[in-house]
Amino acid sequence: MGIPHLLVIPFPILGHVNPLMQLSETLAKHGCKITFVNTEFCGHKQIITTGSGHDKLKRLGINFVTIPDGLSEDERSDPMKALYLLKTKMPPLLPKLIEDVNALNVDNKITSMLVTLNMGWALEVANKFGIKGAFLFTASATTMAACDCIPTLIQDGTIDSYGVPMKKQEIQLSPNMPLLDSTEVAWWAKLGKMFFTHIVEEMETLKIADWCLLNTTCDLEPGALGTSPRSLPIGPLMESDTNVSSFWEEDTTCLDWLDQQPPQSVVYVSFGSLAMLEPNQFRELALGLDLLNMPFLWVVRPSNDNKGNNNEYPHDFHGSKGKIVGWAPQRKILNHPAIACFISHCGWNSTMEGLCSGVPFLCWPFFTDQFLDKAYICNVWKVGLGLDKDENGLILRGEIKKKVEQLIRDEGIKARSLKLKERTMNNIVEGGPSSKNLQKFIHWAK
Ligand code: UDP
Repeated sequence: MGIPHLLVIPFPILGHVNPLMQLSETLAKHGCKITFVNTEFCGHKQIITTGSGHDKLKRLGINFVTIPDGLSEDERSDPMKALYLLKTKMPPLLPKLIEDVNALNVDNKITSMLVTLNMGWALEVANKFGIKGAFLFTASATTMAACDCIPTLIQDGTIDSYGVPMKKQEIQLSPNMPLLDSTEVAWWAKLGKMFFTHIVEEMETLKIADWCLLNTTCDLEPGALGTSPRSLPIGPLMESDTNVSSFWEEDTTCLDWLDQQPPQSVVYVSFGSLAMLEPNQFRELALGLDLLNMPFLWVVRPSNDNKGNNNEYPHDFHGSKGKIVGWAPQRKILNHPAIACFISHCGWNSTMEGLCSGVPFLCWPFFTDQFLDKAYICNVWKVGLGLDKDENGLILRGEIKKKVEQLIRDEGIKARSLKLKERTMNNIVEGGPSSKNLQKFIHWAK
């Protein structure tokens, strides 16, 4: 058998690019050849793929190529429309890229393709070239199970044909899964009919894939993984402590700053790459961090990113105990001994990274699957707490202070976090369940 050569194409958002890059590194170390495809534009931004981490991947034999998104500036301005347009504008551009890559690798042509959600169209193109495909689902297995269950949920009247829950109730997606809130299971509902139609179509398209790889483990979500035979948990994707791609320059000065802080003293606050705070919520968070008798490290992405919400710090904000950065080396930070807890939006990548660091969570979900992830963190694994909103839907500064203090005092949560870290990481040691699944996948790729 020859060397497997995978053409790897993420949907161009960091939550997809990063885990696929981690997986590519693992696959390269296991002898696979990787051609990694970056889309030239990711919304309006361009991805930064330089630096030492990137050079390391090149030395491992990962080859980087780019593909245009085929969209005009105007078409990129509405993310939901862009999602739809990509599916018609990008497919005609892919055959040339496949031919070019194969022409440069005549003795080692592409053997298989690996994509993320929203890129199912690429698997259809690959299919025409006789290239088999798989996809990495970058959210939890529970989120995947929810997508798989859409037809049943419509049929039994849990959601309507627009994907909206008929009522708020506790439901069980399969007998071995925990009871979950129907409004959290139907994570697509708040994104509108167009997005729901897209998800339904996408799940249909992805039936073409032989495998659905998941950045999870069989003990984190056993029930959800049991719902589909092609689901292969290969997580946690923890090959490297560096995310090589980003839209913003990483500010590494915070690592030196963390070195100066006492062990388990710092509150780390980050809401990932997409979520945005409304101005008065931003204000409450700033003043809440000030109220704490602890140092904090807060990621505030550059304000021009915030569609007019320009992160105005309240005039009475001191910030003297904290450090604010535009973008952080999150994986390194979470593993730093000075970190006490993680105020997180509960994106799946951040959730897995937090679990693998054994850091307790204070959950602040914004949208999509983040509420489901929060439910697992707080109610299933019991490694974090949630924040309550006031009658105006605001998380007040007093609530932030109260919950951080409650969290860091909770010895049970601390102990469970450390235990879960160990259990989760054991999946990727040699002979561990995720390692075995990865071998199965590599065998398929050959
Ligand atoms: N991240 C980072 N630096 C930051 C904030 C986030 O490197 O300052 C990374 C984080 O490690 C994770 C990704 O960005 O890998 C965010 O993915 P997630 O699924 O948590 O959230 P999303 O951005 O998709 O909402």
